Amino acid sequence: MKLSIRGLTHTYDVDVINDLSLELSQYKSIALIGVSGSGKSTLLRIMSGLEQPTIGEVWIDDSPVSDPEYRKHVGFVFQHHNLFPHLTLKQNITLVLEKTRDMGKEEAEAMAVAQLTALRLEDQMDKLPKNVSGGQAQRASIARALSLDPNIIFLDEPTSSLDPILTYEVLTAVEELRDSGKQFIFVTHVMSFVRDFADYVIFMENGNIVEQGPVSIIETPTSQSLKEFMKKVR
Ligand code: ADP
Ligand code: MG
Repeated sequence: MKLSIRGLTHTYDVDVINDLSLELSQYKSIALIGVSGSGKSTLLRIMSGLEQPTIGEVWIDDSPVSDPEYRKHVGFVFQHHNLFPHLTLKQNITLVLEKTRDMGKEEAEAMAVAQLTALRLEDQMDKLPKNVSGGQAQRASIARALSLDPNIIFLDEPTSSLDPILTYEVLTAVEELRDSGKQFIFVTHVMSFVRDFADYVIFMENGNIVEQGPVSIIETPTSQSLKEFMKKVR
């Protein structure tokens, strides 16, 4: 994707994104890493168009992310699944397709089944979210995001509420999307996933990008902060 961040500042009580600028082309899978509170989620929400920055702008693939047309082509997977609790996994997807994509029932259903099957949920799709594991619910959230056929998928610590086995299942499912032609920008603390899946890494601290580069920077960090961070997360 082409990613262009231009003089981005975001302020709540204080600046949480601090005059960031960045130009990238060629990368398909970008990881944001850093300690809690460093501004990763805020930056991710701004890049996905979910939140408007206080100052500055972000362009992705030659479109300002504030453009509603851009918003139609992004998917977002949150820290905790946000499936509708009273709908089955399959209905969670068909409803969204019928409402936002004007699809007929049959087409929506076929798409839902295909996406859930791709995420290995073919035998779970008629269950309610509360009756599947956290990992399955999170995979269903990913299936729902994919069913809208986005160009880019944003994931914000999609496995933070999961145990190691479920984390592995979810991240393996995401890795299997590598050749799907989708692009990814994600936040995670799982460094094995960053190593396997990211082709570019951005390390944030206090709303600043302290270090960035190809994924190899996490093996040979140059800044003291990234060195310290990598000792803690490994
Ligand atoms: P990260 O995802 O790296 O943990 P966040 O982007 O969530 O960081 O938060 C960055 C800073 O902004 C933190 O200090 C956080 O407390 C603050 N913050 C995040 N969201 C809000 C909000 N809606 N209102 C006020 N402060 C916020
Ligand atoms: Mg966060």
